[in-house]
Amino acid sequence: MTSADVRPGPFEQELLTSWLARVAVHSGCEPLVLTGAIWPDWRIWTVDADRQVSPEHAQAAAIWFNLPAESVHACTLLAAGNRLHGSINLNGPMWPWITTQGNRNRLRRAGLPFCPKCLAGDVQPYYRLEWRFAWVVGCERHGVRLVDRCDRCHAISEPHRSTAATGDLAHCVECGFDLRRSKCEPVDVQALSFQRRASDIFGTGMAAWGGEEISRTEWFRRARSLLAKDLCQVDARSAAAMGNRQIGLWFELQGPMEREARLRVLAGLLDDEALLVVRSQGRRRAPRSAQSTKVKNRRAKSPRTYPLARERVREVWARWLRRSRLW
Ligand SMILES: [Zn+2]
Ligand SMILES: [Zn+2]
Repeated sequence: MTSADVRPGPFEQELLTSWLARVAVHSGCEPLVLTGAIWPDWRIWTVDADRQVSPEHAQAAAIWFNLPAESVHACTLLAAGNRLHGSINLNGPMWPWITTQGNRNRLRRAGLPFCPKCLAGDVQPYYRLEWRFAWVVGCERHGVRLVDRCDRCHAISEPHRSTAATGDLAHCVECGFDLRRSKCEPVDVQALSFQRRASDIFGTGMAAWGGEEISRTEWFRRARSLLAKDLCQVDARSAAAMGNRQIGLWFELQGPMEREARLRVLAGLLDDEALLVVRSQGRRRAPRSAQSTKVKNRRAKSPRTYPLARERVREVWARWLRRSRLW
């Protein structure tokens, strides 16, 4: 690319890596070449740049695209992370409620979810920020479950590995299958209902829990704690549909189908006022003498969801890799 080339900005709600890869392949150049020109000393594809970029890296991209640095930051999940958690730990290996991709050099261990129908309707197919929100398991516009792998060869979706030869971000990088032709299945009504509720709270910041008004941050914290594996188990039918591949990864490491199955259960739990009250009592740390045995037992069983040590995340990934060899 030369300075005389047109350098298009991001589409609405587009992820940073999607923007970079899309501009490159639609210009007939490799994403690696484009990013090497913008950042000669930074290998962006080896990190999860969609979560955050440093001010210096954002500035370099802003100069290249002739846009404000804010436009670059707006393509990352940093604002969403801060909105969800007040102030996110930038160096944390995983951000609760933001899906993790498991970067390993240029490869990923989890696919980037997408809606085939949205991609089919795009002039230039691109990947949305909200597809990395862990509570988003379906497309509200098209009513279908998000997809994270190729229908033909089952390779995970890795649009950042698209090349000038593939021509766009809508083809499997392993076999060339047109991902817009992926089989679409309706998303579960209850899971979608939870998704809408969470998105509404995420947007407005107004939340209630068992009749009590709470902050957005607190609502997402409590909802995440209910996603403990013993409470939100995948039902037999969904497990069979996944080829019994539900393997107990952290929620943020799971694919859309497994997350959908767990959110369906979570939606039912949120209708259980008694459970919500018990859970919120646990949070208030009432004196031990004032707690019932039932409450103590529930708290004892409730696993900590975060903060997570980097080693713990690696350990979970290692388990996934061991098991995936058996598939
Ligand atoms: Zn869609
Ligand atoms: Zn494929």
